[in-house]
Amino acid sequence: MEQTTVKDLVRASGGRLLAGDPDTVVKHVSIDSRVMKGQDLFVPLIGERSDAHDYLGQAIENGAAAVFSSRTMESLPGAAWIQVEDTLKALQDVGRDYRRRMGIPVVGVTGSVGKTTTREMVAAALSAGFRVFRTSKNFNSDIGLPVTMTEMGKEDELAVLEMGMSNFGEMEVLSSLAEPSAAVITNIGVAHMEQLKTRENIFREKLKIASSMKAGGTLILNGDDEFLKTVPAECGFHRIFYGCGENCDYRAEQVRITSGGTEFVAVHGKDRVLTLLPVMGKHMVMNALAAMAAASLWGISMEQAAKALESFEGFKNRQQIYGVGDFRVIDDTYNASPDSMKAALGVLDGMETEGRKIAVLANMLELGENSRQFHYEVGQFAAEHSPELLICIGELAAEIGKGLLDAGAPTEVKAFASREEALPYLRNEARSGDLILFKGSNSMRLGELIEALKG
Ligand code: ATP
Ligand code: MG
Repeated sequence: MEQTTVKDLVRASGGRLLAGDPDTVVKHVSIDSRVMKGQDLFVPLIGERSDAHDYLGQAIENGAAAVFSSRTMESLPGAAWIQVEDTLKALQDVGRDYRRRMGIPVVGVTGSVGKTTTREMVAAALSAGFRVFRTSKNFNSDIGLPVTMTEMGKEDELAVLEMGMSNFGEMEVLSSLAEPSAAVITNIGVAHMEQLKTRENIFREKLKIASSMKAGGTLILNGDDEFLKTVPAECGFHRIFYGCGENCDYRAEQVRITSGGTEFVAVHGKDRVLTLLPVMGKHMVMNALAAMAAASLWGISMEQAAKALESFEGFKNRQQIYGVGDFRVIDDTYNASPDSMKAALGVLDGMETEGRKIAVLANMLELGENSRQFHYEVGQFAAEHSPELLICIGELAAEIGKGLLDAGAPTEVKAFASREEALPYLRNEARSGDLILFKGSNSMRLGELIEALKG
């Protein structure tokens, strides 16, 4: 944080300073008492299982300059002590206040899948002309967003913030924190169905990214998405649609997967720009179009954006392609939902290889009561792309195998209960020249399976 003192924190949070010097300078915000960057405000959050007020002492020992507290406790010497009613709300108030003081335009990014990738691409495209701040890691929740916002610096000219929600009402809070000037919605999928029940609900909630949008703001919408393409002109904001459909303002034509990435022609009005993304898949083209559309709002041309995106490198465990022994893997183990699993199967299908194509797919979690059905449908989708061998890990993933076989695909299917059981089989099967996709929910820890294969 720039130019922030305890006085600012008291004003922003509406709290009461019980001890300490109001002129104490605060530079960072921490919600983990073990991790202080120096001159931190420590915010003890109260969770379902733990109450971080227990760690106030540790936070101060570790160098916190100020602490919030919603419990009546004896203040400890060494840090400014600010009493607030609700520590989460106080954190959000501080984030919002700081964001307003910084005053730079914000591009918000939400959607069921592809938020982080799109956020990075929007930031990369805007970096062609500006110094851009962006969300770090995956800090996209009502806790992560205010923390990340306090890291904006005075040199930053624009911010790209990831906004993720899993329940009713959350997006409204996120929008009130970010106050975006533009908002990208990547798609309306089925992630978080457990809480939100229907895709209509997910659609409605995601649109609330605009609830605190600045007047004259712009919604940047996936025009190929059956829900998003219905956002009407009377929505109160400018709309830009992107995708492959004729209805889209930013359109991709001639999408082609090559051994080095994905090639397409970006089309906007009369402009046509050949773009080479060093990442795989049509979904990456969609994310790139969103980035081009967002960057155009600040005067970055499609040529400039395309150039910036050509050096975009993707992320660890997000469709990274590398060699292990004498075969290649597509490491997409970071996470999985039906949409991203289908996207990854499309990538596998589109790639060239001398050997066989193998998909190692594990459970996708948190999909609610229709979870089995979603897995089964991925299997039916996979049948259109029929890899030579499908290895399912976990009880839900076995449904993918069923869906695939029921669709009559010629794929060989093996199902295992765990990674450990799958390892010897896979070790034996993986041959020279094979291309193997690994994908499943993060907690299925497929990355460890790849590590084991290396050994
Ligand atoms: P999280 O909810 O964990 O923050 P996210 O929305 O930020 O996820 P990413 O981390 O960008 O999403 O990507 C998750 C997965 O979805 C990756 O496997 C990625 O390759 C795939 N993916 C990225 N963009 C898209 C897209 N537009 N459509 C479908 N899948 C996508
Ligand atoms: Mg993310």
